[in-house]
Amino acid sequence: MPLLLPVTPENLAKAAATLREGGLVAFPTETVYGLGADAANDQAVARIFEAKGRPSFNPLISHVADIEAAERIAIFDGRARKLAQQFWPGPLTLVLPRRPEGRVSLLATAGLDTLAVRIPNHPAALELLRAFHGPVAAPSANPSGKLSPTRADHVVLGLGKKAQLVLDGGPCQVGLESTVLSLTQETPCLLRPGGISLEALKELLGPVEVAAEGGAIQSPGQMESHYAPHAKLRLNAIQVKSGEALLGFGPTAPVGCLNLSPAGDLIEAAAHLFAYLRELDQPGVDVIVVMPIPRHGLGLAINDRLRRAAADR
Ligand code: AMP
Ligand code: MG
Repeated sequence: MPLLLPVTPENLAKAAATLREGGLVAFPTETVYGLGADAANDQAVARIFEAKGRPSFNPLISHVADIEAAERIAIFDGRARKLAQQFWPGPLTLVLPRRPEGRVSLLATAGLDTLAVRIPNHPAALELLRAFHGPVAAPSANPSGKLSPTRADHVVLGLGKKAQLVLDGGPCQVGLESTVLSLTQETPCLLRPGGISLEALKELLGPVEVAAEGGAIQSPGQMESHYAPHAKLRLNAIQVKSGEALLGFGPTAPVGCLNLSPAGDLIEAAAHLFAYLRELDQPGVDVIVVMPIPRHGLGLAINDRLRRAAADR
């Protein structure tokens, strides 16, 4: 069983230390319980996906304690500041351009140039974020495909030992996920309905588009819904020709190639995936050849992302 701890100053310090060490901490927010990791630590973020058993990498929300911390990782315009002033802390997630020099893991944003951020309205969450001094990436603290947890015991039942520590802050007040609003284009776009209503957003912003069910951004001219390299991708291969670059995996990969994990560790491979794809995706490289990746654990999500990137071409 993970440590189920009441919210006390000592336990908040323990939780912040666990995050600093790259561990997973489940914590209460006003919406649902989140499964948090240091957003700047690739391996810690990879552990979130492993713990949830997600078959794909979707971008995670970075949680911060104040607007200054949010502005260190994302680029705010006037609209974003106005929304933050009115609704933060609260159940509104803003999708904004990623600050290039921000330290958030590429895996946390699924390789995108945009970043989702919010300040949660829960005293324990805010104290944890202040104690940790950095952004915490956190999806809901439940196994993939299961209901979101609104009580600490739901987290323990669902995730077992996969979170090192669960802070018990009682039942969540809102019990609904946060509203996700994208400000990466001229007209704001509602990606997911949630705790803040569309009407409340329109009152402040004027017109707001509503994305199709599922949250994918689909109308023409809008941002890509996931990261795709410019080079073509050839999967499950080991032969490399000129103009091609090899992305290796495991101990059998040729020495000197960029290797997702020389030891064949899927958490390490997931942690490196987006950064290494970007590194190989350079002018002069027509094809990125990717060695076979096992189809279990995080390998499912890695293969899913590679398959989509390959199909995009
Ligand atoms: P959850 O982590 O379960 O609360 O879900 C986070 C939601 O935010 C999902 O619907 C994501 O697709 C969405 N999201 C997070 N980051 C981005 C982003 N950069 N662009 C678009 N949607 C995002
Ligand atoms: Mg969820």
